[in-house]
Amino acid sequence: FDQLQGYIWMNGEFLRWGDAKVHVLTHGLHYASAVFEGERAYGGEIFKLNEHNERLHESARILGFDIPYSVAEINEACRQLLAKQGFEDAYVRPIAWRGSESMGVSAQNNRINLSIAIWQWPSYFDPAQKLKGIRLDIAEYRRPDPRTAPSKSKAAGLYMICTISKHAAEAKGYADAMMLDWRGQVAEATGANIFFVKDGVIHTPIPDCFLDGITRRTVIDLAKRRGYEVIERVIMPEELEGFEQCFLTGTAAEVTPVAEIGPYRFTVGDVATNLMHDYMAEVQPKRAAAE
Ligand code: PMP
Repeated sequence: FDQLQGYIWMNGEFLRWGDAKVHVLTHGLHYASAVFEGERAYGGEIFKLNEHNERLHESARILGFDIPYSVAEINEACRQLLAKQGFEDAYVRPIAWRGSESMGVSAQNNRINLSIAIWQWPSYFDPAQKLKGIRLDIAEYRRPDPRTAPSKSKAAGLYMICTISKHAAEAKGYADAMMLDWRGQVAEATGANIFFVKDGVIHTPIPDCFLDGITRRTVIDLAKRRGYEVIERVIMPEELEGFEQCFLTGTAAEVTPVAEIGPYRFTVGDVATNLMHDYMAEVQPKRAAAE
């Protein structure tokens, strides 16, 4: 990955991809004082750019630091870098972290750094598997209580249990894992939100200890526009037996149908398929329609 081509925006400058380096004593590396975003460009425009970069600022604020660039400045840096990289469709990864000026848990005076990288990441899940529905394991780790971790922040530290869970699932041949929360309720996948369908009605967990994804909210709006009823409620794993369809949503995952979760089976049905298409239409730049 460090051999990819082009530029990385770092602390206000465009650096050659291979020159965007950090010191090994970076606080963000030792103590996970880092927050990031995952954004996607379609047709040369970054979908919901401002919303993502607002969330980046909010994620940092929750961890107790201020990013030294405004949301508008970050938006502009993302746009300029996308143009410089020359991609129409791409994945955009801003990250902010505490630097290496001092070592220890306390890092009051360490510099707050910001970088942005953009690369081509066509599909988070294997496209052929996506059409058939992916297979999910049920993770051992659970999403923590919001009193235990800053669950509203897209903080690097929260991904520790996601990587462990995803690797454990992959070792068993699954594409990903569904995580429960600390109460044993269905929460989400390791990098995407989860939805279920029964009798044409959509059910999804209340995001009170995990990210209320930007894709999640977009898909809820699209579902309502189509006239589907969407219920946000507590979902227990035993209920999975009764659901007919399941799908994941996320910037990287987009809308991905799920065929299996542990012992439970789902069909890639009309609701998941319709929303998958609606989402792909929604993310396309609107300028053609406006002209
Ligand atoms: N949950 C987790 C753990 C994620 O990493 C993501 C991806 N950012 C999501 C949910 C979905 O968020 P979004 O739709 O904003 O990408």
